Amino acid sequence: MPSVKFKYQDERFVYQKLIDQVNILCVAKGKDCLCTSGYRSLEKQKIINSQSLAQRKNQGGYQKADGSVWTSDGKCWAAAYGKSNHCYCIAMDITDSWFQALTNAEIKKYGLVKPMSYEPWHVQLLEHQGISLSQKEAIRNSVLKGADKGMDVKEFQAMSGLKADGIVGPATKAKAKEMLQCCQEILGNDFKTSEEVIRACMSSPEDWLVLNKMVSHFKDYTMNIVKRMGGKL
Ligand SMILES: [Zn+2]
Repeated sequence: MPSVKFKYQDERFVYQKLIDQVNILCVAKGKDCLCTSGYRSLEKQKIINSQSLAQRKNQGGYQKADGSVWTSDGKCWAAAYGKSNHCYCIAMDITDSWFQALTNAEIKKYGLVKPMSYEPWHVQLLEHQGISLSQKEAIRNSVLKGADKGMDVKEFQAMSGLKADGIVGPATKAKAKEMLQCCQEILGNDFKTSEEVIRACMSSPEDWLVLNKMVSHFKDYTMNIVKRMGGKL
């Protein structure tokens, strides 16, 4: 089925209804499209704004202190840092020529709008027109919630070849220990002696190395923590 794809996977965090409506449009037109920009983190927006500025240098392009990029004809080509609707997960840029050719009159029935006539690639939901900053923030928080969450038990089980029942039983615990040890080796945290631990972790290792030699059980104490955290106890 025709659908929209994301060019950059880190920008795929877009309000689901907007993606859905664009997909319905794709099906109606029988064409795929590519979203070249969706959700932008602040770091991403800084990169995009500097690219926008570079592209418009010969049109009198300039950047304001808030990061926004303008041309001398009064057009804003990149919003101020943190102010773009892309930062709130409610805008998509779709650069396919068939998509850019669509007018607002045509996309209205899909609940979509291109709010800026000079950006025929930038699309949003009609229902998001005129919403407040706090509403935008709530949308962004709901979309990003879970976007960078860790792996849950079922995902871990599926990934490691176990039965994905979400129950933490002996087999799941054993696999987690095995993985943990492997991860510690990859990360270089597979310490063999308390001296290694102290050198890797403390900003003034020499002070601690004295204690390591003097205080009885200090070595065992340190290594027990390492073993426990590394899944070896
Ligand atoms: Zn845009």
